[in-house]
Amino acid sequence: MLLPFIVYVVALVLLLAVAALVPSVTKVAVVVALGVALTGAGAILHYFGRYGDSKLRQLVKLYLQRLEQMHGDFVTRRQVDRQVADLARFIYESLHVAALALVVKKKQGFIVTDVYGVPPEKVKQLCIGHRDELVRAMETHRSVVSLRKVYAGGKITVPLNELPFEEAMPVLSGGKCSHFILLAHSTGYPLRLMRPFLLALADQIGDYRLLEDLLNKHNQQVSRLRKQLDSVNREKESKSIPPTFDARVMIDAQNRLMRIHNRDQLYEALLRLIKEQFKVDFAVVLLKNQENGNYEAKYDHNVSKELASRLLLPADSGFAADLKNSPGWKRSDQVANFVKDSVVLQILQESGVSAVGALGDVEGSESVMAVGRVKSGFSDEELEAAYSYCCLFNLVLENQAHFEKIEQMSYTDSMTGLYNYRYFYKRLQEEMTRAKRFDRRMALVIFDIDEFKVFNDTYGHQSGDHLLEQLGSLLAKSVRSIDVVSRYGGEEFCVIMPETSAEDCANFMDRMRVTMLNHEFRDRFTSEQHRITVSLGGAIYPNDAQRIDRLIYCADMALLQAKSSGRNKSFMFDEKLLNSRSDRYDKRTKN
Ligand code: GH3
Ligand code: MG
Ligand code: MG
Repeated sequence: MLLPFIVYVVALVLLLAVAALVPSVTKVAVVVALGVALTGAGAILHYFGRYGDSKLRQLVKLYLQRLEQMHGDFVTRRQVDRQVADLARFIYESLHVAALALVVKKKQGFIVTDVYGVPPEKVKQLCIGHRDELVRAMETHRSVVSLRKVYAGGKITVPLNELPFEEAMPVLSGGKCSHFILLAHSTGYPLRLMRPFLLALADQIGDYRLLEDLLNKHNQQVSRLRKQLDSVNREKESKSIPPTFDARVMIDAQNRLMRIHNRDQLYEALLRLIKEQFKVDFAVVLLKNQENGNYEAKYDHNVSKELASRLLLPADSGFAADLKNSPGWKRSDQVANFVKDSVVLQILQESGVSAVGALGDVEGSESVMAVGRVKSGFSDEELEAAYSYCCLFNLVLENQAHFEKIEQMSYTDSMTGLYNYRYFYKRLQEEMTRAKRFDRRMALVIFDIDEFKVFNDTYGHQSGDHLLEQLGSLLAKSVRSIDVVSRYGGEEFCVIMPETSAEDCANFMDRMRVTMLNHEFRDRFTSEQHRITVSLGGAIYPNDAQRIDRLIYCADMALLQAKSSGRNKSFMFDEKLLNSRSDRYDKRTKN
């Protein structure tokens, strides 16, 4: 307040000095002019005196101090809203504006939150109808804008003269308007002069750092890093040695396969292994059809019927041989280098096959395996691993085939080609168990060549052997596929006949008897034709016996009955046979 007083005193002194110096004629005019000037100066000083009101300055200072406390810290949106609402109230109360409205940006858009000095509905209409132009203007100018300028051109729906607002003051954060305050004129101070204060305040508030933004940014960074990590991991996975080469996995696979003694189960186990190790979408084994030579889907994992029927590789394509000639698994892009047949190539391509490799070449198990994986192609390491598994599989398959061959030999009678007694006994046990489980009947027939000793004595043992050979194949042809024919020993044979009644058994025996009787056996050494007769005995499970040895015994007793009845006969077991038989034996031993 001292400066205007000094100025005022200096001006008075100057006025008196000039009045003393100038001639008297103009003194009145000069004094009048100076008086006018001093009145003006007084008015200016009065104005400055009000503008520099210490109370207002103090308020602004306090406000800025409070804002500075906030500065640098992260705040929530709610805290910012409260701060701006405080500012609005402060402006209304301290700067004596006639009316004020606070507009806040929410999720659904800008909405009016606080209104002072006017009916709220009108403000809402104004802001909702034209907020976009207003916000754009404030963001462009980064300053307070005049409503009259923004709404020039007749776009406004609520006439401005109904509302006292003149200016809009933005709170800009990062160049974007988050709040704005609509201001009417001030009764105390012209708005034009208050602008620097207001903008400084708004700038201070707009300098906030939102906790939500920080969180969003943090989340974005986390998800970006996560994606990067995923892609790095994927890359690492694809480049690193697959777990399939892990020795433990390989040994485990070997153990799993080696323990299996059944071909179907072996193929299924291989499919499981390939599925687990390579995460394939589908895997299929195409097995050579022994009749037409085509390769057809036989075992699969996740293959639809439609895909299975499509995957039929024709025999004449020679693709299996092509694959076999170049060992190892082939990726779909390499297949064309090895398989020449275009039909096969097309089938593989259309079926979504990613890799293919030859499998077992054991007789009856010639096969190839095809796998599909949409996610990613097969790496070289994976192809090698798949090949290793298939080699392992082939080894097991070969061993199994050898085992089957040896087993077959151990069950076969070398002279007749029929099953031997060992197999007969094993099968009889199995068939009896099955008959018991399903409550079925079963017949056992034993027959013996009549007077074969005489035949040997007449034509020699070699001729006898040759006859037995021929009898073996004749017998094999004369039974049903479910019947089991074996050489019981010497010149005795037996037939296990599942699901056969006593009547059917008796019919079969008689038919066999006649067949043998009518058959002309060739003699390799003399070119003669020989005829023989056989005697047969039959017994039925469970009618005659419930235990295996008892059943054999019963059939044998029936055979003995046929012999003792004059040979070239067939008899079903009868309980009465036993008594007469023991009578005969007893008589013989007594004699
Ligand atoms: P039957 O059965 O009618 O009472 O008189 P059989 O002369 O056939 O008597 P049996 O069945 O007891 O005799 C078996 C004979 O079959 C003894 C043996 O000379 C002959 N034999 C057994 N095994 C073979 C064989 O492998 N080869 C040849 N050539 N003969 C065999
Ligand atoms: Mg005999
Ligand atoms: Mg005999």
